[in-house]
Amino acid sequence: MTTSDLMVIVFSLFFGAVIGSFLNVVIDRVPQEQSLVTPPSHCPSCNTRIRRRDLIPIFSYLHLRGRCQSCGSRIPIRVLIVEIASAVTPPMILATQGVTPVAFFTVACALVLLVLSVIDLEHGIVPPIIVLPITVAAVPAVMLLPPAEWKSALLGAAVTTGLLLLPALLRAGAIGWGDVKLAPFLGLASGYPQAFLAILSAFIMGGIIATTLLALHIVGRKTPIPFVPFLAAGTLVAMLWGKPIVHWYSGIF
Ligand SMILES: [Zn+2]
Repeated sequence: MTTSDLMVIVFSLFFGAVIGSFLNVVIDRVPQEQSLVTPPSHCPSCNTRIRRRDLIPIFSYLHLRGRCQSCGSRIPIRVLIVEIASAVTPPMILATQGVTPVAFFTVACALVLLVLSVIDLEHGIVPPIIVLPITVAAVPAVMLLPPAEWKSALLGAAVTTGLLLLPALLRAGAIGWGDVKLAPFLGLASGYPQAFLAILSAFIMGGIIATTLLALHIVGRKTPIPFVPFLAAGTLVAMLWGKPIVHWYSGIF
């Protein structure tokens, strides 16, 4: 690893933390259909504008002990989790995958999937206002990657769309339509044949968690379980380790 690569990786930690603050704004405001720009960051309980020095990612949350400085109401722990996750994700991906255009694309996809996962967990929705632009933006992004990558991205999109559309059509409520609309993006991100791995591992992880929650009576049989976090995890597995896993799997037969 060169010194400049190392500098990029270290810088990506700080950049990621700052992005994380913005992602929290997206998570707070998009489901309420509020503007991302105005008004400036404020406490949702007392409407006090957040002081400039309390806008430092991670540190401000810890310094304020997770409470608003004027009214004392709790700031959700999710704010801290998202800031930490977006701070550590870029350097982890760049350090393991190398400082390459494909790795930067993986970072961008991982952060988008983090936002969509939290929104699905908190609100049970997959906002089209996020899904449509990221899908449109992913197409030229993969076009800029080496030719093999964009061909595999388009094939991947066909695979993920097929795999999520089929159960949605066969049994009403099996898969949410929001998840189906997200499918092309997941395939563009995973590529082919890793797209199979993305969806398959999402179903396996989702199945294990759902069965466990049912067995422990934490959820009922009719409780909808957000699927985006599993699709996001599966897609990340496919993006980071898909090629070696597919290579290993095809070597068995
Ligand atoms: Zn307050």
